[in-house]
Amino acid sequence: GKSAVIIGSGIAGLATAIRLANKGYQVKVLEANSYPGGKLGKMSCKGYRFDTGPSLFTLPQLVDELFILSGRNPQSHFEYSRLAVNCHYFWEDGTRIKAYSDPGRFAREVHDKLGEPEDNILTALRNSAFIYKRLSPLFMHRSLHQWQTWTNAHALKSYFQIGKLGIFDTMNGANKKRFGHPKLVQLFNRYATYNGSDPYQTPATLNIIPHLEYNMGAYFPKKGMHDITLSLFELAKSLGVSFNFGVKVDRVIVNNRKATGVMAGLNSYEADIIVNNMDMVNAYKTILKDQKQPTTLLKQPKSSSALIFYWGISKKFAELDLHNIFFSNDYEEEFRYIFHEGSVYSDPTIYVNITSVYKEDDAPPGCMNWFTMINVPNNTGQDWDLLIKEARKAIIAKINRILETDIEQFIETEDLLEPRTIESKTSSAMGALYGNSSNSRLAAFLRHANYSFHIKNLYFCGGSVHPGGGIPLCLLSAKIVSEMAG
Ligand code: FAD
Repeated sequence: GKSAVIIGSGIAGLATAIRLANKGYQVKVLEANSYPGGKLGKMSCKGYRFDTGPSLFTLPQLVDELFILSGRNPQSHFEYSRLAVNCHYFWEDGTRIKAYSDPGRFAREVHDKLGEPEDNILTALRNSAFIYKRLSPLFMHRSLHQWQTWTNAHALKSYFQIGKLGIFDTMNGANKKRFGHPKLVQLFNRYATYNGSDPYQTPATLNIIPHLEYNMGAYFPKKGMHDITLSLFELAKSLGVSFNFGVKVDRVIVNNRKATGVMAGLNSYEADIIVNNMDMVNAYKTILKDQKQPTTLLKQPKSSSALIFYWGISKKFAELDLHNIFFSNDYEEEFRYIFHEGSVYSDPTIYVNITSVYKEDDAPPGCMNWFTMINVPNNTGQDWDLLIKEARKAIIAKINRILETDIEQFIETEDLLEPRTIESKTSSAMGALYGNSSNSRLAAFLRHANYSFHIKNLYFCGGSVHPGGGIPLCLLSAKIVSEMAG
């Protein structure tokens, strides 16, 4: 049979390993860290457990698919449930909105709280579904670099409906036309952050994202987000995939424009195909530094990064759910800081993810595990120590105002993740969460393809290449790679 070496065990690396093993490949995964999963990690401290990276889980069927493909029953290996409330939104003026996952109920809630006509919300979600139906087969499930993608019947239909796909407006522009209440515009603008983009620049096409939450659903894995990593790691091993941890690949070996293996220290690993799961920008700087560089792609602006405080909180707040948002008073200014100033705004939007609401043993009795995050610019050498100190103060003050509490006295344990450590732990260029930003209309075309144009037998998967960042898209990159590898 054929053999494959995969560089990196991020979610896309794991999924590629499973898919190639199912095709009869002998697969070896080389991972620099001592653990699998990359950004999809976990951490424990004094009775609190935290998922360190992704917290929002959509399209779980893409995980199920990997079990089904391997002849296993997904339910007996990886359990999850659909959320009844996608997110709990808080504003400083006391407004609170529960984003029910049922569109009708959500529309009623928004009408009750903001006076917005229910139809505006339902129409927006229908539009979101329309964009998804038209564009996901083109941009998510296939390579953009093969002519068949652009010449099938589905593509032709989309060309005729281009006006309805939001390509010519920004997300904020479209939302302002659609909704009367500025708070609702803000709520829908937030979906740009799901792939680290700026709602004031990104095309309205990204209004595809609410469809995932309201029409298709947001989910929570019964054992926490990290179980996505663990269950796929176990599945891969059961299929005979071998993992070498603590192995940092230094170089892809290329002979006559063909990848034949990799070097890590003094060891070489040979294989028929090489799949790179490490961030593409850093890959060209390190393991592919002697190869032809895709200069235009390497220069594309990166998505935003994040600052996260993992707080063990020795108190329960009944008003908090799994996903909570404390909105900035000036959203536009917040994004101006992130994407134009390269700095952190003094009144940031705060996201608090609390898995102990759904999974009690993630915190001691009477306590909660707060994953407290703000969006920040990617790392261009800012004085992060100072920015983090100021942001921590601003976050605590804002939470205190909105929840009428004094949160600092309840912080029992604290840990931190920030742009510099995101990069050092997962090799993500500039600490970007999602690879390239989607701020430009052409962003989809300016991601690296899932294969090399110049080197045979070399493939790419993960959040920095096509179709983009986030768990679902990473899983789709693995599918595209395994289909290409044949
Ligand atoms: P990565 O997770 O980037 O892993 C790459 C792996 O390659 C790492 O393990 C690294 O050690 C290894 N590696 C790198 N270089 C080498 C080398 N030279 N040799 C060997 N191994 C190497 N997505 C969502 O869907 N929902 C969310 O709510 C969400 N929130 C997020 C919050 C945070 C804080 C972060 C950081 C990300 C979030 N994301 C979210 C994005 C999501 O985590 C990523 O898109 C996804 O996990 C990236 O997976 P990947 O396969 O590209 O690999």
